[in-house]
Amino acid sequence: MPREDASTTTRGSGPAGGDQGHGRTVAIVGGGISGLAVAEAIERLGAADGIPIRTIVLEREAAPGGKIKTQRVDGFVVETGPHGFLDKEPVVFELIDRLGLTSALVTADASSARRYIVRGGCLRALPSSPPKFLVSGVLPAHQRFRVLLEPWVRQRAADATDDESVFDFASRRIGRGAAEVLVDAMVTGIFGGDPKALSLRSAFPRMMELEATYGSLIRAQISITKARRRAGGTKAGVNPAMGGGLNSFRMGLGTLTDALAARTHVRVGFDAAEIQVPFCVRGQGTEVRADAVVLATPADVMSGLLEPIAPDVAEIIKEIPYAPVSVVVHAFRRADLPSTVVLDGFGFLIPHHEGREILGTIWASTVFPDHAPEGMVMLRTMVGGARRPELMALDDAEMLERVRAELVKIMRIPPDTKPVFERVLRWPVAIPQYTIGHASRVDAMDRLEARIPGLFATGNAFRGVAMIACIVDAQRVAERVVRHVAAKRT
Ligand SMILES: Cc1cc2nc3c(=O)[nH]c(=O)nc-3n(C[C@H](O)[C@H](O)[C@H](O)COP(=O)(O)OP(=O)(O)OC[C@H]3O[C@@H](n4cnc5c(N)ncnc54)[C@H](O)[C@@H]3O)c2cc1C
Repeated sequence: MPREDASTTTRGSGPAGGDQGHGRTVAIVGGGISGLAVAEAIERLGAADGIPIRTIVLEREAAPGGKIKTQRVDGFVVETGPHGFLDKEPVVFELIDRLGLTSALVTADASSARRYIVRGGCLRALPSSPPKFLVSGVLPAHQRFRVLLEPWVRQRAADATDDESVFDFASRRIGRGAAEVLVDAMVTGIFGGDPKALSLRSAFPRMMELEATYGSLIRAQISITKARRRAGGTKAGVNPAMGGGLNSFRMGLGTLTDALAARTHVRVGFDAAEIQVPFCVRGQGTEVRADAVVLATPADVMSGLLEPIAPDVAEIIKEIPYAPVSVVVHAFRRADLPSTVVLDGFGFLIPHHEGREILGTIWASTVFPDHAPEGMVMLRTMVGGARRPELMALDDAEMLERVRAELVKIMRIPPDTKPVFERVLRWPVAIPQYTIGHASRVDAMDRLEARIPGLFATGNAFRGVAMIACIVDAQRVAERVVRHVAAKRT
């Protein structure tokens, strides 16, 4: 079996060369944002500590990026996976800066601040302030009143093993009615998931923290807003060049993964099938030897790779379910849509009990006007999720027809409007679901690091599905990898 190393598998622009004289090699399995970010961080942190570490990212597909792939079609910037990232994590902007991409950033247009929800088949704007919420029709009066009682709801005495579902938490704090509408839609938007199945502790740890610290989510919001105002209005750690909110790049999110891949050794078309300890990663007819390995694949693949070396952990990791999601893109000429078609916001989400065939639609060209040519409108509709996986079986023609039918009903797009283009992008293993018990699965994976020194794991399967959470986790894992490599040298 031919042995390959970074010198023969370089795609990016990093230094070439074999093991000899170049310090240590770390193999990373999976070239999504997690794998690429961990590679960048390992090489950088190693160099800062005077430890030359060469990384090699092994990616199964023909191109790196994982869920982040941007298609550029006739002036449209079409995101196949994520749409943007929030400016909550300074390390993300530091990375963007190091890559020289700060000037390529775009911030969501102010007109996308408004968000809609579907109630009774109709679009309703979500109120932007508590007084507006009080008079809005987004919930019946008694449910709105119940939400406002939240500060007086007693905190639940939770211990370290407590694993309340997102739905139970929300029902307890803001009432069942509001949970079924507002929280259901939020969970759909982030996880494509079922709030009754997801663990609050794992899926929304911040909510749990806020309840523990302030005793109430509303009180927490008021205190945080006041503190922010006192501190001068900007969020701590936010790039001062940014206006806040959601971000992307002028040419789409692929800008970030492309730039990371360009400065990393990436071996595409490498379908990792086996890991030998201490470390050799085998693909078809080829292998890569390394001093440490970082797994950055979806959990099902990770489980398969761990099976021969840690069958107990492989079994546990296999329990992390994934929701399938299809992204259905429609582009129209604005002039072909009547003025009654509203596009003045981010888009809309649909609570599950509305019984629709779509999860929601992002008005992509309103959010990032640079992503569509002048006079064009681009919509991205999500289909499937944890509660409608069967819709993934629809062929493209049927899926396009069903989505069009929903857009006609919900957005009042005339049925005979011809799209400029439409396409279906499928992710059968799209978004991991942090279901009840998830924390114990993450613990099992963490304990494996002590059992098999030199084997690490990162990726969206564990500590956050947002791309910024993947970058933050990659950074933390990289620190541990560099410590491991440094310890091996002494
Ligand atoms: C439709 C959709 C919309 C989303 N919207 C947003 C959003 O707006 N904002 C946001 O922040 N996040 C969003 N997310 C989530 C975010 O995109 C992902 O959580 C993140 O990109 C995952 O990155 P990752 O590197 O951990 O995993 P992945 O991107 O899944 O990468 C894993 C990589 O491993 C590779 N691989 C698998 N098996 C092997 C093998 N055997 N050998 C070698 N390589 C292998 C895969 O090919 C892949 O490239 C969205 C996700 C989806 C699907």
